[in-house]
Amino acid sequence: MYESKLCFVGLSLFLVGLCSGDEPAKDFSSSQQTALAEVERLSDDIKTVNQRLWELAEVGLQETKSSSLLIQRLSAARFDVTTDMSGMPTAFVATYGEGKPIIGILAEYDALPGMSQRVSPQREAEVDGKPGHACGHSGLGAGALGAALAVKAAMEQHNLPGTIRLYGTPAEETVIGKVYMTLDDHFDDLDICLHWHPSSRNEAWASSSKALVSAKFTFDGTAAHASVSPEAGRSALDAVELMNVGANFMREHLKEDARIHYVIVDGGGAPNVVPPTATVWYFARADSHKDVEYNFKWLKDIAAGAAKMTRTELSIQIDTDCHEIIPNGPLAELITRNLQRIGAPTFSEDEKLFARRLQAPLIEQFGTEFPLAIDESIHSTTVSSQPSKGSTDVGDISWRVPTGGLRTTCMVAQSPGHSWQNVAAIGSTIGEKGIIYASKTLAVSALELFAEPKLLAAAQADWKQRTEGKKYFSFIPDGQKPPKQIR
Ligand SMILES: [Zn+2]
Repeated sequence: MYESKLCFVGLSLFLVGLCSGDEPAKDFSSSQQTALAEVERLSDDIKTVNQRLWELAEVGLQETKSSSLLIQRLSAARFDVTTDMSGMPTAFVATYGEGKPIIGILAEYDALPGMSQRVSPQREAEVDGKPGHACGHSGLGAGALGAALAVKAAMEQHNLPGTIRLYGTPAEETVIGKVYMTLDDHFDDLDICLHWHPSSRNEAWASSSKALVSAKFTFDGTAAHASVSPEAGRSALDAVELMNVGANFMREHLKEDARIHYVIVDGGGAPNVVPPTATVWYFARADSHKDVEYNFKWLKDIAAGAAKMTRTELSIQIDTDCHEIIPNGPLAELITRNLQRIGAPTFSEDEKLFARRLQAPLIEQFGTEFPLAIDESIHSTTVSSQPSKGSTDVGDISWRVPTGGLRTTCMVAQSPGHSWQNVAAIGSTIGEKGIIYASKTLAVSALELFAEPKLLAAAQADWKQRTEGKKYFSFIPDGQKPPKQIR
């Protein structure tokens, strides 16, 4: 669930040319040089982990083999691993070191249903109907793992005090994992949390995101023969339809950044039976959780009205409630600086040709213009950038601790999110280069935070200022466990 923006800085091109390659630049500290060398040493295995997660392509809350693979690598590196967190068997936390500071890095590894795709420039499923990594989370998990292992190697070799944690956070696509882990306070003792996402650009993740409530509205009516005795029936589907009409009229009066979308997951069984039950699944989003609260309460009133109109009973299941990201200025600056110091990967003519072939169907269908095949530059983003149109459960963590992130080029330029093109790209050498770049940037940034108490303090002060007066409210009932499966 990622989104990127346009904000180009010409200087980056110069730095790209200057710094790319495997040689650590001279101004890295000795522990950072150890971490960079460790990512290089582990790069084949990081690529293997991406490849394996890509092949497994397990959807949220069912990422059993994917989480086991990451845990296996972490245990082998002598991290202490706790599994089965917050009622989710595929959630885990892996810890190395002790005491403060405590730096967390986030891993995701869930795939998207129906998105199976070969590393091919045509739409071509590996297995029809199977999930695929259309958001690149195979790479996200592998890159985060590489970073944690590299930080650990540097801590060990240079006797650095402090703790590094890798969090295995399931079901990002339905914004569930981190929300429930946050509600259980699993991130509260972190000094800083770091995250990344595969993208079509290299940049610090300096923007916010949309808050989102996901809920299912179920109406209970009375079944009857639809032709012989309709007077003895009460249609739950009528209630769903009336609710949707109400929601669609409500749209006109919402702020422009609000997004409301729904699918009917149960609309009855047959036309000759008055549907006794019906369920509609809604996402309500906005740039601020406060607006989501307002809009969602309105939506609940509309649902209650629909129930009243149809003489049916309403029940509401809140699946999740995720908050917008609180951006962090000092962390965005640190990450931008490290993206530049390390230098972005460059891509071969073959990789660019492959990218052009992935773009071709988009030109044909939508007339999109693609000035670039692959974006090799480093963009400079600031916290004043426009919020993203997507949502991520990273947001909830950022309400508890200062959180900073980045994106690296793993996909072709301007590639649409959740597309088959992204499955192909993250499974290719294009994705691999971006993953390794992300591992290095995360590791070097984490080590800088370990070494510079002033930097930690600045990030924390920025967070305090941005969260002042904000109240974390969740529609999730107290003590509710995450859903076992989402649909
Ligand atoms: Zn994603």
